[in-house]
Amino acid sequence: MTKAIARSPWVVHFNCNSCNGCDIEFVACLTPIYDAERFGVVHVGNPKHADVLVVTGSVNHRNRHVLKNVYDQMPSPKVVVAMGVCPATGGIFADCYNVLGGAGKVIPVDVFVPGCPPRPEAMLDGILEAVQILSRKRADSVSETPDLPVKSVRPAPVPVNKEEKC
Ligand code: SF4
Repeated sequence: MTKAIARSPWVVHFNCNSCNGCDIEFVACLTPIYDAERFGVVHVGNPKHADVLVVTGSVNHRNRHVLKNVYDQMPSPKVVVAMGVCPATGGIFADCYNVLGGAGKVIPVDVFVPGCPPRPEAMLDGILEAVQILSRKRADSVSETPDLPVKSVRPAPVPVNKEEKC
């Protein structure tokens, strides 16, 4: 993993169906009080620019397609963090008629941050855990890249002047 990504993870946040409790705590992480920027965390609005996807809320039949779409737009390697109990299991919404459950029903989740809502310190801890996982994924993807064949370059033949030789 490049040092740029390790020291500056770009994070996109997707609210599936939350009560906004986790979202407020996540926004608090970005304020100077908890200061996620000291770890290089940059909050972006475009999944195409993001390394880490933060999911809050439970997954239902309507937002499952949007969540999958956001995830698919992110470049690989990428990491998903489920913030709170809702994206882990469905939480307090789990028994609703339209709720499928956690984010893991639709996309792979790498880090679960427990709580309802989790404290901002726990959220920051989850993001830093995600950066370490991202680093490992990056290293694996680089080692799996096949070596390109090395093209041999022959030296150009030196023209021989026969007259000089004699
Ligand atoms: S985990 Fe709790 S605070 Fe977070 S979205 Fe679910 S119900 Fe709200």
